[in-house]
Amino acid sequence: MVFPPLREELRGLEPYGAPQLDVPVQLNTNENPYGPSEACVADIAASVAEAAAGLNRYPDREHVALREGLAAYLSRDTPHGIVAEQVWAANGSNEVMLQLLQAFGGPGRTAVSFAPTYSMYPEYARDTATRWVAGRRADDFTLDLDAALALVESERPSLVLLPSPNNPTGTALEPSVVGALCEALGDGLLVVDEAYGEFRRAGTPSALELLPTHRNLVVTRTMSKAFALAGGRLGYLAADPAICDAIRVVRLPYHLSAVTQAVALAALRHEQELLGQVDALRAERDASVTWLREQGLRVADSDANFVLYGRFADRHAHWQALLEHGVLVREVGPDGWLRVSVGTPAEMAAFRGATTAVLGTPAGALMAEQADQTDPTTDPTQEQA
Ligand SMILES: *Cc1c(COP(=O)(O)O)cnc(C)c1O
Repeated sequence: MVFPPLREELRGLEPYGAPQLDVPVQLNTNENPYGPSEACVADIAASVAEAAAGLNRYPDREHVALREGLAAYLSRDTPHGIVAEQVWAANGSNEVMLQLLQAFGGPGRTAVSFAPTYSMYPEYARDTATRWVAGRRADDFTLDLDAALALVESERPSLVLLPSPNNPTGTALEPSVVGALCEALGDGLLVVDEAYGEFRRAGTPSALELLPTHRNLVVTRTMSKAFALAGGRLGYLAADPAICDAIRVVRLPYHLSAVTQAVALAALRHEQELLGQVDALRAERDASVTWLREQGLRVADSDANFVLYGRFADRHAHWQALLEHGVLVREVGPDGWLRVSVGTPAEMAAFRGATTAVLGTPAGALMAEQADQTDPTTDPTQEQA
C-alpha cells in the first residue's frame, strides 16, 4: 500500500512553480512590475465592498457583465469586433485551458504542442488523461509549418496549444500559420494562447482577427501580465459561441466568485492606467535585447515582456551567480538559456550590472558557439517553460 493513494502516474512529481525567493530584483515570472495607483486600489476596494454585501448569494454563473466588458476590451484588437457570447472567463487562463482540455480532450484523444513551450500544457493533458504529443520548433524557435502540418496529419489531435508570443522564447505566430493549422485540424481546436498578446511588436496582428474565418480557433488571454493583475486570477478566451457554451458543461458551479468578478470589472474600468506601462515595457524589452546582444550573447527575438538569452556553459551556475547579486531570473527553456522578465528601468539596470559582473567570472562563461555544431535546442528532452 502506498499512502496517500495518489494516481500512479502522479507519484513522485513536483508541483509546477518558479522558486518564490525573497530577492530585491525579481525578474522570473513575467509579472508586470508596476502596481495599481491609489485611485485604482480604492475603486477595486469599493467594488469588493459592494460585492461583499451580497456574498450570501451565489454569483452570476454566466458572469455576463464581465464577459461584456472583456468583449469590449478585445474588440480593439480586431476589425470584426467581439461580442459577449464569444467570451468565457475563469480563474486565470490556466483554468480556461484546463477547462478546454476537460471539454475537448480526455481519454482516447490527443493534444499537441511544439517545444520549447509553456510547461503547463502537458500537465493539463496529464490531469485530463489526454494523450500528449510534443513536436519541435525550428532552431530559431519559429514554428516550421510543414513539420507542424505533418504532425497534425499523423496524430489527428483534438487540440493544438500554441502560445503567441511563445513562452519562454517570445516568438509570435504568423497569421498565415494560424490559418493553415486551423484548416488542417478539421474539427480539432487550435488554441492560441495570447497571454502576452498586448506586448507584441507593432505590425504583429492578434489571432483574434481570424475568428470569423475559423470556427475551430480559440484565443486565450489573461489579466495576469499586461493588465498587471496576476494576483486577481482572471483569464478568458474568445471563440465561437458554441465553444463557450460547451465549456459550461465542465466548469464547476459558480467557478468565478463574486469578488473575482468585481475586481476584474473594476480593473477593466482602469484599463488605460493598468495598460499604461505596456509601451514603456516594450521599449525596455527592445533595449534589453540590444544590450544582451552587445554583450556577445545569443538572444531570441521577443514579442513578449521577457527575453530568452544564452548560451551558458553552465546556466545554473550563471543563474546562481546572478541571484547572489540580488537578481532572480528564470532557469527555463533549452539547456544553456535563461529567461529574464522585463522590469522597471531600475530593475533592468540592476540586471545589467549583475550580468556584467558575472560575465567576467568562471560562472559567467559562455558556451563556445560553432556554426557547424548540432544545436542543443533541438534536444527533444528540453522542453521546460
Ligand atoms: C503566464 C502565462 C499564462 C497566464 O496564466 P494565468 O493563469 O492567466 O495567470 C498563460 N499562458 C502562458 C504561456 C503564460 O506564460
